[in-house]
Amino acid sequence: MAQQFTQRIPPCRCEVRAPFKIAMTHEDSPCICLACDGTVALNELEISEDYRRELVAWRREYEAVHALWREAGVYAAWARTELHDLKSPINESGRILASGMPPAYMAYYAAARGDGASPSRCERCNSRLSPPSGYEAAGLACDACRILYPLTD
Ligand SMILES: [Zn+2]
Ligand SMILES: [Zn+2]
Repeated sequence: MAQQFTQRIPPCRCEVRAPFKIAMTHEDSPCICLACDGTVALNELEISEDYRRELVAWRREYEAVHALWREAGVYAAWARTELHDLKSPINESGRILASGMPPAYMAYYAAARGDGASPSRCERCNSRLSPPSGYEAAGLACDACRILYPLTD
């Protein structure tokens, strides 16, 4: 489950577009297929060019914040809060990107694991969480916020 920092993710080859999550990757796309764990190519999604650019920019920013945390320098504490606080700018913009996807797509924003505990309610709106139907191993989701919480392993 936990991705190594340098791990590359193969592209999604599913024939039918399964639900996906927006998360940090080291690929061009921040979209990860819940069926195969591959990256969903942005040019395969029917979204506007602007939307595509926003996803690319978000992925780059998230990777930069993540690098600050990993480097454990003077910005590490700031970066850690930024990554683990669901209301932080980087998390809120990722969530907005997931919830703004066309209705044809089931998109979630992948919440980063903070203290290792799986919440039973959404940390943002306090709704009860349930796994995406058919993709129970993917985690627990808040359908209102479009947030996917990882399961502890
Ligand atoms: Zn796939
Ligand atoms: Zn919620």
